[in-house]
Amino acid sequence: MAKPTVAIVGKPNVGKSTIFNRIAGARISIVEDTPGVTRDRIYAPAEWLGVNFNLIDTGGIELSDAPFMKQITAQAEIAIDEADVIILIVDGKQGVTDADEQVAHLLYRSDTPVVVAVNKIDNFESRTNAYDFYALGLGDPYPISGAHGLGLGDLLDAVIRNFPEVPDDAPDNSLRFSLIGRPNVGKSSLVNAMLGDQRVIVSQVAGTTRDAIDTKFVADQQLFTIVDTAGIRKRGKVYEKTEKYSVMRAMKAIEDSSVVLVVLNAEEGIREQDKRVAGYAHDAGKGIIIVVNKWDTVKKDNHTQQQFEALIRSEFQYLAYAPIIFVSAKTKQRLGQLPSLIKQINNNHTKRIQSSHLNEIIMDAIGMTPTPTIKTRKLRIYYVTQVATAPPTIVLFVNEPELLHFSYRRYLENQIRKQIDFTGTPLRLIARKRK
Ligand code: GDP
Ligand code: GDP
Repeated sequence: MAKPTVAIVGKPNVGKSTIFNRIAGARISIVEDTPGVTRDRIYAPAEWLGVNFNLIDTGGIELSDAPFMKQITAQAEIAIDEADVIILIVDGKQGVTDADEQVAHLLYRSDTPVVVAVNKIDNFESRTNAYDFYALGLGDPYPISGAHGLGLGDLLDAVIRNFPEVPDDAPDNSLRFSLIGRPNVGKSSLVNAMLGDQRVIVSQVAGTTRDAIDTKFVADQQLFTIVDTAGIRKRGKVYEKTEKYSVMRAMKAIEDSSVVLVVLNAEEGIREQDKRVAGYAHDAGKGIIIVVNKWDTVKKDNHTQQQFEALIRSEFQYLAYAPIIFVSAKTKQRLGQLPSLIKQINNNHTKRIQSSHLNEIIMDAIGMTPTPTIKTRKLRIYYVTQVATAPPTIVLFVNEPELLHFSYRRYLENQIRKQIDFTGTPLRLIARKRK
């Protein structure tokens, strides 16, 4: 469960984003395309030799108006705070510079293991340039070429060798959820208000970072874990206010959760950044609840809630399945309903439907609205079966997968949702050719 994090640091133009894309690239492209969701490519899940980790390009996090050294110092601090292993990238064509030495010095003082990657070593002859970087005092420099994909295997071998031996989180069957949203929507207030009434469970296992960053509590006869409570409560660092950093933090939390609470601020309405983080949760296939906080600040009449709901539905069209709850961390309005709602969404997210039931639903649906015919070829659906949960994933065995168009797929999804409660969870429908 506890996936290690690798952060890439180094001064501008050494090739950080090139290497980030090399290591993470293949994984990024599988994520389905959601219209209107732009991607911040500073955080991505990655894998090497079957070992999964999170990868962060700290170069993408910029403080506005800060001078060069301040920028890379903040980036190094983020890496030290967030990562289990740091890749320091330097430019093998340029040789050792003052900036490299300063970053190396900062990293040297932390306990986090550092692997030095000497980039732009594009051919065998220039490999000797890498030896100069022993001067940084951070161990063996690894010659690589991000542009040509050379040396990355040896580098990643060194990275995963340095991963901590995490004592696997005792599987406690807790329901892991996170709160994501822009700064100031009230995430931290919601956590405090929710925990106010609960008995917070302090983990017995001392010294593991995960226990320090998550909080467990029991409600509704269920053990819950709030993922990354420490991140939600903030530590007062300058870079926490940057949008990229908060997005990166949200992406990590999403990945580590079963259910995600997308928190909106009723006082300020919906912003671009709200849609972006919600889009990540949708892409990741998590259970989702839209939580409209600060409901106490809104002047209400009989239509206010309906109007706000309609606005959310039009702005977050891809989240049609997510329930909306209007709350106030300040007055605690409806907060008591959250645990059971989270539990219900998690049940839907992990629901398994018998094939016989699914086939009945699909055959009835075809009976009401026959499958489309495209250029004389008619879509035939022979059999359907659920192949995975979290999110529920249903495979349709068909004659020609290309014939299952968006609108008919949506029709089938709606028919399934009419018969089975999948509130709060995305459904994946995949067409496969019957062999
Ligand atoms: P960042 O600012 O550290 O993220 O650096 P980028 O990844 O944007 O790369 C900076 C420049 O170096 C770009 O022009 C890249 O094409 C180039 N570059 C990256 N990796 C290599 C490499 O392995 N060899 C060479 N020759 N150029 C590279
Ligand atoms: P975060 O950045 O998302 O964690 O937001 P905070 O929890 O720090 O809240 C930001 C500000 O909004 C603080 O001043 C809170 O007191 C205030 N706030 C949070 N929730 C509510 C609420 O439900 N009603 C009102 N009126 N203010 C709230």
